Amino acid sequence: MILNISWDLLGIIWLAVRVILIILAISSVLILVRTFTLTRRRKPLAPVEGLPVDAAAIGEHLAAAIRCKTVPLDEQGTPDPAAFKQLHELLEKLYPRVHAALKLEKVNGYSLLYTWQGTRPELQPVQMMAHQDVVAAGPETLSEWKYPPFEGRIVDGILWGRGSLDIKNQVIGVLEAAEGLLAQGFRPERTILFAFGHDEETGGANGARNVAKLLRERGIRLAGVVDEGGGVVAGIIPRIKGDVALIGTGEKGYLTLEFTVQCAPGHSSAPPRQTAIGILARAMVRLEEKPFPPEIKSARPLYWALGTAVPFTAQLAWANPWLFGRRLERVFGNSDETKAYFRTTTAVTVFHAGDEDNTLPAEAKALVNFRLLPGMTIAGACERVRRVIDDERVQFKPVEGKANEVVGPSPVECPAYEGLSRAVQQIYGPIPEAPFVMLGGTDCGHYRDLSDYIYRFTPLVMDPSFSGLEHGIGERIPVASMAKTVQFYAHLMQVWGTESMT
Ligand SMILES: [Zn+2]
Repeated sequence: MILNISWDLLGIIWLAVRVILIILAISSVLILVRTFTLTRRRKPLAPVEGLPVDAAAIGEHLAAAIRCKTVPLDEQGTPDPAAFKQLHELLEKLYPRVHAALKLEKVNGYSLLYTWQGTRPELQPVQMMAHQDVVAAGPETLSEWKYPPFEGRIVDGILWGRGSLDIKNQVIGVLEAAEGLLAQGFRPERTILFAFGHDEETGGANGARNVAKLLRERGIRLAGVVDEGGGVVAGIIPRIKGDVALIGTGEKGYLTLEFTVQCAPGHSSAPPRQTAIGILARAMVRLEEKPFPPEIKSARPLYWALGTAVPFTAQLAWANPWLFGRRLERVFGNSDETKAYFRTTTAVTVFHAGDEDNTLPAEAKALVNFRLLPGMTIAGACERVRRVIDDERVQFKPVEGKANEVVGPSPVECPAYEGLSRAVQQIYGPIPEAPFVMLGGTDCGHYRDLSDYIYRFTPLVMDPSFSGLEHGIGERIPVASMAKTVQFYAHLMQVWGTESMT
């Protein structure tokens, strides 16, 4: 009897082991199949020779553009007429072919819209963007600049100055490329627009927004848009060593909510249990303690596109979110370096209340800035905030002009992206590229309803010695790098300028 039971038990255990082994085998096969099919493996493209360019001359042109001090006169971004006049005259002088062959419109006085009419007007145009304005170099920082920010000095192959990285290099790069192509007799099939706004640094409300409005009135749809954004970087993406081209496919949404708590004013000698300050402070603490949950969905295309450039274990994890999703969310959503890319973020930035030590404040106010991840809407964020705070005494509403939904992300399986990717690969070499969602906004957000194909890429190898200096002290760029910037745009104009865009 005992023997029989033991045998039965052994049989059952053996059966269970077999079932488990079969499940494990099937899962392993599934994991591997997904890993090999989802991570992108591309054939390297042959490099192109590129437009012949004189980097030193281009450096001088950029230096001259930096000397035009296109700093906004106030926080609303009011342009300085003299500085823009100087810049516009300079561009006309430097690029005579462009100004002869392309139509130039000044929108709202300062933004520039160039139209390079294609031979096939029935095709939707493409657009290359940048902005002419630069941020100020605060007087208190001037002594820290090795060379003054608006003199455009070139020393040992480095051009110093405000706007050298953000983003007059791109204005000059585009025009230089068009001038070179015109000299070769090139004309695109597809119309190419250049749109250079004049108040991007203050939100583009007077510049890019009006250019977009003009295109909308003309019934134009854009087959592809490229504006400033990621570049060619090394060492930024965890566990990837070599160069990677970061291509922004979307922008996080922007939402500032104003919170208000109103209470009866009075004397502090007979206070209620909570004052307006206490009630609002508690709400803020709740928001900080219950952050939006991490999400890996919008970062998935990045890792899939990186393909074999990431270690095999990472490929395995990103290709199988059904198994490893939670772990990825924990790792990336909690790391200080990456969490902004994996969460809708919450930042309590302003808090105002109270004047006197012995008076109960009638009102407490706070501003909280949220950056929305794709998939999150303004309405959705407000709903969650209401649930988390769970206190009817706390009223809130979006601040006017400070609530923008997520832009994109634009697709990576389409002719516009393929063409962009081709230009990157053929000018910068066979490097992996990584589509990603940008944390901040750029002018191209104003074009969201004019195109489904909006990308953000600055053709520049971001060397750690100078990258990150945009808006900072000592902004500078190696003059030699401008050669590839120009060649990239020239190549992209040739690729996007065709019917297929690839
Ligand atoms: Zn910029």
